[in-house]
Amino acid sequence: MSVSNAKLLHCRLKPGLHTLCLSICLIIPLLAGCHSPESVSTNRLERFEFQSPHMGTLFTITLYAAQKSMAQNAAQAAFHRVAVLDEMMSDYQADSELMRLCEAPPGQPVRVSPELFDILSQAQKFAAMSDGAFDVTVGPLVRLWRFARKKKALPTPAQINEAASSVGYNKLHLEAKARTVTLLAPNMRLDLGGIAKGYAADQALAILQGRGFARALVAASGDIAVGDPPPGQRGWRVSIANMDGHTNETFRSVLLRNAGISTSGDTEQFTEIDGVRYSHIVNPRTGVGLTNRIQVTIIAPNATTTDALATGVSVLGATRGLRLVDTLPRTAALIATKRDGEMRAFTSRRFKSVFTEAVATSKTSR
Ligand code: ADP
Ligand code: MG
Repeated sequence: MSVSNAKLLHCRLKPGLHTLCLSICLIIPLLAGCHSPESVSTNRLERFEFQSPHMGTLFTITLYAAQKSMAQNAAQAAFHRVAVLDEMMSDYQADSELMRLCEAPPGQPVRVSPELFDILSQAQKFAAMSDGAFDVTVGPLVRLWRFARKKKALPTPAQINEAASSVGYNKLHLEAKARTVTLLAPNMRLDLGGIAKGYAADQALAILQGRGFARALVAASGDIAVGDPPPGQRGWRVSIANMDGHTNETFRSVLLRNAGISTSGDTEQFTEIDGVRYSHIVNPRTGVGLTNRIQVTIIAPNATTTDALATGVSVLGATRGLRLVDTLPRTAALIATKRDGEMRAFTSRRFKSVFTEAVATSKTSR
């Protein structure tokens, strides 16, 4: 069994109705090592793994191919696609297409690339369905909290109010025919940090599939896109491991094909000020980084969806988040919360069945 891109964390489970004692978890791809007899005869496909840093994290591609050189070329093309998307969508590079768009005067339509238009359209869809909990216009608030994190000092209410006046997905207008984006308020700043890694993982997987490597997995730390399963297997085994501890104990594991899986949480990115822990995920309604400990794992047909929903459901919280997830087809959630030292886990109605479904559903019916 091989473990890639792994952050194995610790978990203590206490059985109970919808309540488990656990630590916050991250997901890792675990490729099951045992092959069925079918896989021996299927072909001489070998497993290859490649890694490359993009979007502030390490992207890992795992694929099955007959020849190393072909696998290498395909992985290179997929990483190149991620690099191109990174250049377009980065909020750290002042000359990225996204940042140039944010420089436009309010009210002026800007024609953008098909990719930027596509991801923004999808982002708006998730904003609407989450009632603004997921919102890529949250940039001014994220920036304020990043600054707070550096200075270890809270932003003032006045600063939060000012930033919040430039936030709101209804201030972002898209015109599909002309492929234009209009920012309707001054000082807006778009932040694709909650969706871009999942989008890039999906696009990288599509490149591999386009080159004939359908048995592939692309992982961008907590955001994973999987295609057809490894030879002789029913799916890619993805383990949901736990944090706040030291063992390699796995909390849950799912078998996925042609699907996405993402985990969001304040495991790694948070700041503690005056004894309060603030997540890098900001509630666009309050303007404050989440202070309730929550970690959300979403499974859905693709990683763009899981990335955005994992972030949005973190803001919505367990009750409202599960209500949303239960309305979406082929979508499931595992939510972990921690309050006053007590850990709880909640699963959406379809959590138990969705990975079986994902395994049973062919690519064409996606
Ligand atoms: P990670 O980047 O750790 O995988 P997420 O996918 O949840 O975690 O993305 C968090 C990032 O999304 C933040 O760093 C920020 O850039 C952006 N973000 C923060 N709050 C929101 C929000 N409410 N909606 C959309 N994006 C957000
Ligand atoms: Mg996300």
